[in-house]
Amino acid sequence: MNTIFRGKHWSIQRFISGFANNAFLITCKQTNKSVIIDAPAEPTSLISAAKNTEVTAILITHGHRDHVDGLMDVTGHYDVPIGIGIADRGSLPESAQASINLVTDHDLEIGNIVIQAVATPGHTQGSTCFIVQPINNDNEHAHIFSGDTLFPGGPGKSTSHTRLIQMIDSIKTHIFTLEESTMVLPGHGEFITVGNSKKEYEQFSSRPLDSTVYGNVTWLQ
Ligand SMILES: [Zn+2]
Repeated sequence: MNTIFRGKHWSIQRFISGFANNAFLITCKQTNKSVIIDAPAEPTSLISAAKNTEVTAILITHGHRDHVDGLMDVTGHYDVPIGIGIADRGSLPESAQASINLVTDHDLEIGNIVIQAVATPGHTQGSTCFIVQPINNDNEHAHIFSGDTLFPGGPGKSTSHTRLIQMIDSIKTHIFTLEESTMVLPGHGEFITVGNSKKEYEQFSSRPLDSTVYGNVTWLQ
């Protein structure tokens, strides 16, 4: 019931818990190997769905607590490598530190799927997006897991104007350069295509940007 995308090579399930956080389970259909993206509090349904697969890694979009509160619960069931952007490593629970072995700009192969980690600093300095594509490049729409970097309607929250500019730069460089059909799956809420997100951003970029603007910014206001 949680399956949101079923492709030729993968299925993607979404589980909502914690502070209305999205956690995802991506499973390769050919090999049944899977990856978990984010670990919000009370990840019970994520953990039980993952039991039907062979979990190979846990990837964290960034170190804010609501995305890692359930990490020890998840690692209690799946003792697998954890990937998080280097600058956010300090946000993991202490007992999870030792198992970190992934860095950003890193390709991870999960059966017939490639998951590419790209550094997208701004919301946090270690914010990372994960791009999921088939290994043999055969005509399947890619998906990007954007954490709190990009949502339908705007970027994630920023703590200063400089961070907002940095986040917009990350979005333009690593998300808006993907195919328009690519689905953006954020860390909270619903989804949007890259094409529609770019259209929203065009309205924002056509207006002058005051240098005092940061925080909860929306493209269309
Ligand atoms: Zn966040």
